[in-house]
Amino acid sequence: MKLLLTGGMGYIGSHVAVTMAKSGHEVILFDNLVNSSSDTIKKLNKILDKDVYFYKGDLNNPNDIKSIFEKFKIDAVFHFAGYKSVKESVINPIEYYSNNMIGTINLINEMYKKNVKLLVFSSSATVYGDPKYLPIDEKHPTIPKNPYGRIKLQIEDMLDDIYSSDNNWRIACLRYFNPVGSHDSGLIGDNPTGLANNLMPIITKVASKKLKKLSVFGNDYPTVDGTGVRDYIHVMDLAEGHKMSFNYLLKNKGCFKFNLGTGKGYSVLDLLKSFIKMNHCDVPYDFTFRREGDVSECYADPNKAFEFLGWRSLRGLDEMSESAWKFLHHNEKD
Ligand code: NAD
Ligand code: UDP
Repeated sequence: MKLLLTGGMGYIGSHVAVTMAKSGHEVILFDNLVNSSSDTIKKLNKILDKDVYFYKGDLNNPNDIKSIFEKFKIDAVFHFAGYKSVKESVINPIEYYSNNMIGTINLINEMYKKNVKLLVFSSSATVYGDPKYLPIDEKHPTIPKNPYGRIKLQIEDMLDDIYSSDNNWRIACLRYFNPVGSHDSGLIGDNPTGLANNLMPIITKVASKKLKKLSVFGNDYPTVDGTGVRDYIHVMDLAEGHKMSFNYLLKNKGCFKFNLGTGKGYSVLDLLKSFIKMNHCDVPYDFTFRREGDVSECYADPNKAFEFLGWRSLRGLDEMSESAWKFLHHNEKD
């Protein structure tokens, strides 16, 4: 089938492109490159040993979306495009609402016009807000604490309304926990254009001496070692989750919500130790104040995804650490 991947040049989109192309689908990438590089296409071509189609376009320009739907007879859409920094969304909510909300509405308008009614949407565990209980299942209250999370939830609500108005839609909202790591080739990975905010990209930058040290935000949380606990999930497991969701939607109509996480929580120090052990490198760190808005622990109950999709994560923390470092090395050589 012909699959449109908005934001397909980004971190998660490029890995899903590999998984879906390897499953025999034609992937068409749509991206304005605001947070990715045009080099990714060469790397994807190399991994897949064929040319992948890339269209440089912006979801905020309805003509760009129109032209991609006119050029190809798209069967389904994987929607990754959007800004992803919680911090920036607090500082500049208008930009986030414009890009993430309006961009999504423009996309769905075009899908509706072309009668394309299968959508896999990148949601996020941020829709839950502070955990009321752990592990977090899909019935957990959704009380997001920042514009980024509120927009994800508003999009999910909009998608529910769209399905209610027309039961022919097939929609999966995938609530990712903490994606890390990279494809085995080390060619593609998490490569933010600006400053890195997330833990793993910062660890790799410290290990490669691009940053002096890691500041661990708080060592007085009520957790196993005092540092924050998260559900880190290998990006290739996440990509498999997209494939299984897509296969599920081919057989089922509805608007579904699925957690994509491992169900296991690891602390900042767990991740750090795994990274040092696997990659034999030095990562200087110190403890600083808690980061505003951070919760002490957050991890998924991934059972719904297993029950409905037959999906569960397979890769452990060490594989995540090893592949994240491999990607950084590859990039330095390029
Ligand atoms: P990313 O920034 O690497 O990829 C997003 C891509 O979208 C980028 O290539 C960017 O250039 C593109 N883009 C942004 N605005 C666009 C627009 N208006 N038109 C066209 N392209 C546009 O991010 P990612 O980590 O791959 O995340 C993908 C999706 O998953 C996002 O929606 C993000 O909110 C969501 N998500 C990510 C994480 C995470 O930790 N990475 C966690 C939960 C949810
Ligand atoms: N973290 C940290 N130092 C950093 C970045 C993150 O100690 O420079 C911690 C953060 O407090 C959290 C964990 O690492 O406990 C994961 O943070 P990240 O931003 O990657 O994910 P999120 O908090 O959004 O789940």
